[in-house]
Amino acid sequence: MKTLLNEPLAPYTSLRVGGPAEKLVIVETYDDMVGALQTAETRPWLLGFGCNVLVSDAGLPGTTLMWRGGQVTVDGNEVIADAGMWWDDVVQTAIEHGLWGLELLSQIPSSTGGAVFGNIAAYGGQVSDTLIWVEIYDTKTGKIQRHDADDFEFKYRHSSLQSEPERVIVRVGFDLKTTPVHDLRYESALTIAGEKGLDPNDLKQRREIVAETRRHVGSLYDPNDPNPERTAGSFFKNPMVDFEQAKELAQFDESGKTLERILEQSKIHGGSTQRASAAHVLLAAGFKRGQRWENVMLHPSHVLKVATLPGATAQEVYAVVREIQETVQTKLGIELEPEVRFLGDFSSN
Ligand SMILES: Cc1cc2nc3c(=O)[nH]c(=O)nc-3n(C[C@H](O)[C@H](O)[C@H](O)COP(=O)(O)OP(=O)(O)OC[C@H]3O[C@@H](n4cnc5c(N)ncnc54)[C@H](O)[C@@H]3O)c2cc1C
Repeated sequence: MKTLLNEPLAPYTSLRVGGPAEKLVIVETYDDMVGALQTAETRPWLLGFGCNVLVSDAGLPGTTLMWRGGQVTVDGNEVIADAGMWWDDVVQTAIEHGLWGLELLSQIPSSTGGAVFGNIAAYGGQVSDTLIWVEIYDTKTGKIQRHDADDFEFKYRHSSLQSEPERVIVRVGFDLKTTPVHDLRYESALTIAGEKGLDPNDLKQRREIVAETRRHVGSLYDPNDPNPERTAGSFFKNPMVDFEQAKELAQFDESGKTLERILEQSKIHGGSTQRASAAHVLLAAGFKRGQRWENVMLHPSHVLKVATLPGATAQEVYAVVREIQETVQTKLGIELEPEVRFLGDFSSN
């Protein structure tokens, strides 16, 4: 366990912007995390690997608890992981034991707690598909309790934990299978499988297909890389729209796919043909790939990724995000909800 005062948080986040933590406590083990929660004066700010947060320039007052580490164990088909575990180590462990259910989520940069909090998803799989229980530390009562996964209202990129700041995820359990849980229907992944001669129905090869597809589209992130691509992945959630608007937005697809195939991919991504691609929404509202504000830009290939350049501030990112939301609302009548969590005070501008 390490305690640092007035510690800059930017290097601990993938966007690499934002101010300091008044007190940053970095823990590795389950026992240290529970101990740190018990001694924190109020509900602390929580950070995993910082891949889905925008920390304000003013920083975070009080205590910030950052959990990076822990253990994963396998008992038959059940995989049990501490919330501080690097998510991909959990996926890798499941695969080494021949267990299906997590492999589509290979190499998503995340802690295991962050993965459950945000119900991470990729290539047609989401964390909640195989999650069976979540162990919670309640900062109001100081009690630790195990709850059924059904209690957390998981849906597309959502869990009830997102509006329950007093509840801290400390450990989770997955019920995996010795046979495939999902079909791999995602087109770009199937194309890569074909090109590389990899079999999507072999567990280890399916992981390789996903990893290769993520590498291909630039969706990998190493928290120890001193010079990473500075994004938080997709900044916005795919919004629900009516069917006519879903069809109109599909015209902004540049891959040459038919409307039917675009709607099918929307379904794989977000569970519904009416959950339009937020990337198409941005393009329809007039935003461009590679569009640049002073130190903030939309990724040249992935318009949905907001990228920061050296010298960027959190407030600049915040302003760009608000401009995008307001433009989309005015031009298309669509409410775009950020996937990224805003931590701290952004009211200064
Ligand atoms: C390059 C890149 C690619 C990405 N690709 C994908 C993708 O394919 N699919 C996808 O779904 N996401 C993707 N993301 C987003 C990101 O990987 C996930 O949101 C991830 O789960 C964030 O985990 P984290 O540990 O970094 O959380 P942090 O960013 O540290 O925290 C995120 C939120 O979770 C809360 N939190 C963290 N730990 C706990 C806990 N133990 N208990 C309660 N709350 C907690 C924090 O307080 C914060 O509000 C990508 C991000 C990047 C940078």
